[in-house]
Amino acid sequence: MGLIVQKFGGTSVADSQKILAAARKAIRAQLEGHQVVTVVSAMGKNTDILIDLAHEVNPRPPAREMDMLLSTGEQVSVALMAMAVDALGYQAVSLTGAQMGIVTDDTHTKARIRSISTQRLRKALDDGYVVIAAGFQGVDEQHDITTLGRGGSDTTAVALAAALKADQCEIYTDVDGVYTTDPRLVPAARRVCRISYDEMLELASLGAGVMHNRSIEFAKKYGVPIHVRSSLSDIEGTMIVAEPEFPDQPVCGAAVTPSEARITIVGVPDVPGTSLEIFARLADRKITVDMIVQNVGDKGKSDISFTVPCSELEPALQAVQEAATIVGASEITHDDQVAKVSVVGLGMARQVGVANMMFSALAREEINIQMITTSEIKISVLVDRQAALPALRAVHHVYDLDKEPHTLPDGHPDRTSSPTSPNGPDLGNLVERLQGMDMERLLISDVELDQSQALVTIVGIPNRPGVAARVFRDIADAGIFVDMIVQGHKGYLGRISLSFTVPQQQLPAALDVAQRLAEFYDCHTVTHRQAVAKLSVSGIGLRSHTDVAIRMFRALARAHINVDMISTSEVRVNVVVDGQAGEVGLRQLRDAFQDSLL
Ligand code: ADP
Ligand code: ASP
Ligand code: MG
Repeated sequence: MGLIVQKFGGTSVADSQKILAAARKAIRAQLEGHQVVTVVSAMGKNTDILIDLAHEVNPRPPAREMDMLLSTGEQVSVALMAMAVDALGYQAVSLTGAQMGIVTDDTHTKARIRSISTQRLRKALDDGYVVIAAGFQGVDEQHDITTLGRGGSDTTAVALAAALKADQCEIYTDVDGVYTTDPRLVPAARRVCRISYDEMLELASLGAGVMHNRSIEFAKKYGVPIHVRSSLSDIEGTMIVAEPEFPDQPVCGAAVTPSEARITIVGVPDVPGTSLEIFARLADRKITVDMIVQNVGDKGKSDISFTVPCSELEPALQAVQEAATIVGASEITHDDQVAKVSVVGLGMARQVGVANMMFSALAREEINIQMITTSEIKISVLVDRQAALPALRAVHHVYDLDKEPHTLPDGHPDRTSSPTSPNGPDLGNLVERLQGMDMERLLISDVELDQSQALVTIVGIPNRPGVAARVFRDIADAGIFVDMIVQGHKGYLGRISLSFTVPQQQLPAALDVAQRLAEFYDCHTVTHRQAVAKLSVSGIGLRSHTDVAIRMFRALARAHINVDMISTSEVRVNVVVDGQAGEVGLRQLRDAFQDSLL
């Protein structure tokens, strides 16, 4: 006999018939001999309706009251679900977050789970009840109700599965699994049988709304296998587990974040500590920043651009305004009509020419790329919002995501290389070591230094469709392996700068290509650094903990080290600094993350 946590999303409990159908699934699992915890979301669009109502009463509703309001959605559905189980002749008990002992921090509307006391749950399960648990909510130390952020019922389910050491966690939803991209947007999308935690984490935080990204952090940390499946049928869905199905596949999925906004701070003095001044203010407000790009500017000044979700644009602009005054920046611009399109894959770090395929696909559609950032497992581009859907379709198609992968699956006898994960060492017996700690605390598995790379920047390249495609096609044709790429938003004379890192031994070849392109495009200049140091921090929770980059900036600024480039992903944050500063930087970062190191 095992313990199963099942979760039913809003559409799966949208009306009485659906609630009864979900109750039957719970009862069936119990009849198969399992103890069953059923997590439910608010019915249908109830959370949206409550949010609209709040804004009708107050355009800026206090976060505490928002949580008080939103938590009622789940309270309605747990009660109805328990009644449904009872009507079918079985025993059920509904519990709110507080009743289950889900204790969170006090960050209203995006609270983090600290601990779950399982006593009451265990007792109810041992007494033969189906436990119906309210998703998305908890209670802080003051006993105030908190919520975990939109889509947070997934996180409740996986956190309960982790706390109860469940054998299975089933996420029942309105799709029959995880697809290569949102099947509503791209009908050619294909269901995948298995996807790794790292890939799903990245896709989830880049817009694949099928899973709440923090639920995958829990799953990875506590080794909870997740089965995403349809609430309307019994067919097998997608397993989210540690190892990918096709480790050599360069891209396993694509995602879009349609409501993204870009902020640019113009004329920032290029000295250590400026980024800190800016991003500390954003981190304090728990705003998730992405696509940070620093443009090489004129006379020791640079432009810093980054993106935030549109919903956080207003507080982000306030924060940036404060910082701009202090650092003496000349102007702040923003654009709330942009979208971020990304591709994700564990195999891309080991192959040449992956980025070039994405840029070429966009060029063929005449889509202009406003910004580019990459990490080991993802490439993101910022485009005009109107171009988001064609861009998503084009990139989905170019990587053949609509077809079965050609690469050999993990475990196939002909596979020679073993799957590698960019998340550092095996998390092994982590679960034991995490006993008694904050469940969602930041975990750092490694701080590393890579001194093998050089940096090339083409300054003043034209800002039009096809340019990035041409650059990275020529680079790939020369057999050059590119690691990090950043393309800034509008810089010198309305042109842009494009930077990338290459292995030091390939620098002469890369410079050849860059010089040729600079002449072709009549660019301002090509600059390079013979040796740069890439410092990386790997772990779990790197993006949902908004202060990781800031802690890196702070530690490096303390040693007067200037950050040239930064790339962030769910599993790793990289910064590129001067080659000479590598060793000192490494020591600074190890000290800074000592308390979070595994
Ligand atoms: P629930 O209410 O069950 O939590 P959600 O609406 O949060 O359901 O998530 C399911 C939706 O996620 C699907 O209807 C689909 O449109 C969307 N989605 C986005 N990306 C993906 C993807 N890669 N695979 C499957 N579904 C996706
Ligand atoms: N009801 C909440 C929301 O709509 C939580 C969830 O559905 O996961 O965001
Ligand atoms: Mg959801």
